[in-house]
Amino acid sequence: MIYPRVALIGLGLIASSMAHAMRANGLAGEIVGYAKSPETRAVAKDLFCDRVCETAAEAVKGADLVVLAVPVGVMGDIAAEIGPHLKPGATVTDVGSVKQAVVDAVAPHLPKGVHFIPGHPMAGTEYSGPRSGFATLYQNRWWLLTPAEDCDPEALARLRNLIEGMGAKVDLLDVAHHDLVVAVVSHVPHAIAYTMVGVADHMRRVSQSEVIKYSAAGFRDFTRIAASDPTMWRDVFLTNRDAVLDILGRFAEELFVLQRAIRMGDGEHLHAYFTRTRAIRRGIIEAGQDTAAPDFGRAPPARDV
Ligand code: NAP
Repeated sequence: MIYPRVALIGLGLIASSMAHAMRANGLAGEIVGYAKSPETRAVAKDLFCDRVCETAAEAVKGADLVVLAVPVGVMGDIAAEIGPHLKPGATVTDVGSVKQAVVDAVAPHLPKGVHFIPGHPMAGTEYSGPRSGFATLYQNRWWLLTPAEDCDPEALARLRNLIEGMGAKVDLLDVAHHDLVVAVVSHVPHAIAYTMVGVADHMRRVSQSEVIKYSAAGFRDFTRIAASDPTMWRDVFLTNRDAVLDILGRFAEELFVLQRAIRMGDGEHLHAYFTRTRAIRRGIIEAGQDTAAPDFGRAPPARDV
């Protein structure tokens, strides 16, 4: 056991997966939970919490590790509430998809003697809520930590043990660098998926049969991403604004170059560009971040007759 008592604040996909993984691997003594709605708390009590509380302040009392697993936009309010109730020597971490905004919102509320180690598991699905978690979500996935320079090494090592115990791989990153990297690998791809699905919707064909019927041609993968939780993603774009706008600007420039190549019939440009991007996919497979199986290893869809 790594932490005798863990408090999970927010009991959705990320927290419930942590609870299942901690339980499966014997990493926590008691798991205490708090979420906004009584419905979520009741489900969490049934499925993965030993105890749930009616306030965040109550939930963190006596906890050795506190995990903030709420949307990025509410982290600051929660930190203000729990600050005075944290056990001296406790570690507070978060799982927010953006780091600078969370550090700015949370750190000022934490008392001296409490170790704050911001984090971000690079794992998720398009599902949310307390029923959506599963123990293997973090298996072989990266979990990024952005500790301050003066972070206590023992507290860091202990949190690292917990994360590795859940099957994830840990990397340490600078806060600003984290936000730029995730804008490239996660936030802007989501913005593009949302936009593409929006385009199809504007064409008023989504509800008609063609787009759905032929979606396996690529559109389906955009719709999976665009089905992600609206609250979480609103907060991500509002709080990682600068990095997202930087990468979106670069994306728009590249898109114009591509558009021009298509207009000018520049097949050489298109071929060279697609050859480079194909190599990136190969790199992802070689790094063990995805399967080499065709169509992500999905079973072939039932054939229309
Ligand atoms: P989720 O499934 O939607 O769960 C969010 C939880 O936060 C719910 O239990 C919700 O409670 C609770 N909550 C919301 N507002 C609250 C408030 N004001 N006070 C107390 N609890 C509140 O979300 P998630 O996917 O687990 O995401 C949680 C965090 O992980 C976010 O910061 C997100 O950026 C980050 N993250 C997500 C992913 C992903 O792919 N999903 C990946 C990496 C990191 P109710 O159910 O009662 O509303």
